[in-house]
Amino acid sequence: MLPRSCSPFLLFLLLSLTACSGDAPMTDAPSPEARALLDKYTTVRLTADLGDLTDGQRRLIGLLIEAAQEMDAIFWVEAYGDRDALMARIDDPGLRRFAEINYGPWDRLADNAPFIEGVGPKPPGANFYPADMTKEAFEAAAAENEALRSLYTMVRRDDAGRLVAIPYHTFFADRIERAAAKLEEAATLAEDPGFRHYLERRARALRTDDYYESDLAWMDMKDNRIDVVIGPIETYEDQLFGYKAAHETFVLLKDLAWSERLQRYATLLPALQRGLPVPEAYKREMPGTNSDLGAYDALYYAGDANAGSKTIAINLPNDERVQAARGSRRLQLKNAMQAKFDQILVPLAGLLIAEDQRPYVTFDAFFGNTMFHEVAHGLGIKNTLDGDRTVREALRDLASSIEEGKADVLGLYMVTELIAQGEWDGDLMEHYTTFLASIFRSIRFGGASAHGTANLIRFNFFQERGAFTRDEATGTYRVHPEAMAEAVDALSERILTLQGDGDYDAVAAFVDAYGFVGETLQADLDRVNAAGIPVDIVFEQGPAVLGLDQP
Ligand code: ZN
Repeated sequence: MLPRSCSPFLLFLLLSLTACSGDAPMTDAPSPEARALLDKYTTVRLTADLGDLTDGQRRLIGLLIEAAQEMDAIFWVEAYGDRDALMARIDDPGLRRFAEINYGPWDRLADNAPFIEGVGPKPPGANFYPADMTKEAFEAAAAENEALRSLYTMVRRDDAGRLVAIPYHTFFADRIERAAAKLEEAATLAEDPGFRHYLERRARALRTDDYYESDLAWMDMKDNRIDVVIGPIETYEDQLFGYKAAHETFVLLKDLAWSERLQRYATLLPALQRGLPVPEAYKREMPGTNSDLGAYDALYYAGDANAGSKTIAINLPNDERVQAARGSRRLQLKNAMQAKFDQILVPLAGLLIAEDQRPYVTFDAFFGNTMFHEVAHGLGIKNTLDGDRTVREALRDLASSIEEGKADVLGLYMVTELIAQGEWDGDLMEHYTTFLASIFRSIRFGGASAHGTANLIRFNFFQERGAFTRDEATGTYRVHPEAMAEAVDALSERILTLQGDGDYDAVAAFVDAYGFVGETLQADLDRVNAAGIPVDIVFEQGPAVLGLDQP
């Protein structure tokens, strides 16, 4: 299958490359078709002010980046397989670059459509499972061997063809050992005792794939300026079952002044939980109040975090046991967020938002919506009402889309409540209009992403309820605040109920009913693409960009 946007010329080009592969001369310029794919991204230099860091802190950041590069190589194997073999068969330097951005030959912004001739569809389970394995065969084997379902194992076949689970620390032993050693070396440079403790625990966790102690250590540190998220973390890459966590890294620098301002909102969660527009049983769990909310500048992205669209906010850890004991931490990545707002959201609003409402699209509202999205992950419930499973276990591969949809809509619910209580001095109209513009931005990630699916569901649900309307003459969308407020409540109730019931089939039906791209929406997205507005950002990043090379 070729990319949907494939032109006859690209088809010809791909076929001719295949025809003479092996002895074809390497070209040095990207083809126009590769250029069109690369234009989905705009390049941003990932920098921050490191001026007041000590030499030790700068060296420490360099070591974290080296550990991150090991996670990057591991993620290549999880997402695709043999990176070097793939690169060797791509002649067009533009397509090689696009493969690097995607960590494989499938376009993450186009439902994983293959962009290299001769490459089939992406296996839903990526490279975590044997490509020819059926769901049924897996279920049968997993009934006998629970390790197959582990977050931290690769599934392979033994010589007799039986499915076996190989722990990450065994499968990736060399790279894991190198990364762990870098973390231990970094620990010797850490001035903050909590951070030192976390780095030591995290090194041990990588070597054992038992992350519990290190997650607690990460939750317990509060005063460190430098931070790192590293290891197998999110399960979005496993679209077969959502069991397997993919390796990634964020190297981060805390913005202390902003973090103090944000911290206050986490303390308001219990009251907000009680006010959720849903029957009592669906809000009976009490969110932790000691959760930490902070603003950071990102210094380096690697692996899963760096594949395709870039995360601008993090909510971790995912382990429900740690969340129950300590709550969670929410990290807003300010420099990445500002880049997306300037490069994507503002030009997109210029095309799709009613002219008189465009001034309501603001960075403050974008920052607030993203922040409250992260806080809202802490609302609702983690366990199904029948009490014997977590929501994540019950909803499997659909769990992520529904959870992201919950966080988006409850984030807006929170903003509405906090403005009414005088706790947040934002303008609700700015939040709504920026939210609508953000839906278009996120839908462009495609249905292959949990965030893309969540946004499609919300777009169709909101449109059905008149939260916004489209003007035929100008092709722009207008927010209707009263209908928007009602739609927020209605969707909140629907999603919280689906999660609490843990009914997989009901969620599948809901996703089918709302997670589609209609004709008009597709035409509008095509206009955005034709206008050359990038879908996402890629980073020019690393020690040289950060100026770490200079003493
Ligand atoms: Zn989220």
